[in-house]
Amino acid sequence: METIRISDRIKAMAASQTLAMSQKSSELRAAGVDVINLSVGEPDFNTPEHIKEAAKKAIDDNYTHYPPVPGYMDLRQAIARKLHDENGLDYRAEQVVVSGGAKQSLSNIIMSVVNPGDEVIIPVPAWVSYVEMVKLAGGTNVLVPAGIDQDFKITPSQLEAAITPRTRLVMICSPSNPSGSVYTRAELQGLVDVLARYPQVMVLSDEIYEHINYLGEFTSLGAFPEIAPRTVIVNGVSKAYAMTGWRVGFMAGPVEVAKAVTKLQGQTTSGISTIAQRAALAAYQGSQQCVADMREAFRRRRDLVVSMAREIPGLKVNEPQGAFYLFPEVTAYLGKRCGDRVIADDNDLCMYLLEEAHVATVSGSAFCLPGYIRLSYAAADEALVEAMHRIAAALARLA
Ligand code: PMP
Ligand code: GLU
Repeated sequence: METIRISDRIKAMAASQTLAMSQKSSELRAAGVDVINLSVGEPDFNTPEHIKEAAKKAIDDNYTHYPPVPGYMDLRQAIARKLHDENGLDYRAEQVVVSGGAKQSLSNIIMSVVNPGDEVIIPVPAWVSYVEMVKLAGGTNVLVPAGIDQDFKITPSQLEAAITPRTRLVMICSPSNPSGSVYTRAELQGLVDVLARYPQVMVLSDEIYEHINYLGEFTSLGAFPEIAPRTVIVNGVSKAYAMTGWRVGFMAGPVEVAKAVTKLQGQTTSGISTIAQRAALAAYQGSQQCVADMREAFRRRRDLVVSMAREIPGLKVNEPQGAFYLFPEVTAYLGKRCGDRVIADDNDLCMYLLEEAHVATVSGSAFCLPGYIRLSYAAADEALVEAMHRIAAALARLA
């Protein structure tokens, strides 16, 4: 008899490919292999000193008791101020809920607004966790593909064609993981014009890469009055302040959603780490110079990686305007072989690059768009140069 039984909902869930590839690369490294890890997307910088100091002080100041479930009021106020000052948005602190990373915010929101059978529109490529979160909530994923020929951005007519009477939510991520594409204000307006005609559709805007944006302007989807009352924004400190390990993210949106998310969090995780919250407060209240400095480093690396990738025959490369990913099309290499090894699809290609070039990447299939691979360029310049040489050499061996 089966004693340990795993639920159907977890059995039906795919494991996170970004985290799995990163884990695989750590294992190889522990076994002595010199792997360059371009799989997981996280800043390689350490958290700025003033933020770490705030966390140390929080311990000495005895921030050691249960926090309020939706987050400390001063942190929620600081987030509301950030949204006002940087994004021109008017949210009250009551509309802001702090969670364990943007990931928990996204999952909380989806769990709070999606009923079984509801359709959720997700432009793809999309970050690995969206579709699994929707499945967990019993929703139906409606994927709208946008390949490199359209710079990985969906058009208003594609969006309109995907909307049905069952559509509950549309998820937009700009700057995008994995493509690095950024919707301009005019492009967002085109999508908003469509959404304005469908008042039953809510909008979830993942703005976690807001500050890693080389366009020079960032427009939040919360800034469009036509859809603002039914739009929920997600953001956090992971990427902008190099704080992936602290696990602080937030949602801002309709007060009904904030209350639902707080109820869910109150029964599942409670409020998040007190110390991490005090650190996040310092991030939002302190100097923003660190954000600009890291953005400039990422832009330089973007230029480096794009120019090297364009030298590799067969790779089709766009110029990403944000985040820290390159998402080249690799179909020219599919169906090729190296000795007995056949590269049938992008998953095979990633495994080949890991095992033969010792460079960890993530397949486009993990982001629901086969035929591509994702490279994170949030790594040291020398590692990037070496990785691109290794990739070029390994691809050249395919025939
Ligand atoms: N959204 C996107 C698009 C991401 O790439 C990430 C990073 N994995 C997240 C959300 C989650 O970020 P956090 O570390 O704040 O949970
Ligand atoms: N944003 C990162 C990535 O996509 C973090 C890993 C994850 O949580 O998926 O690689």
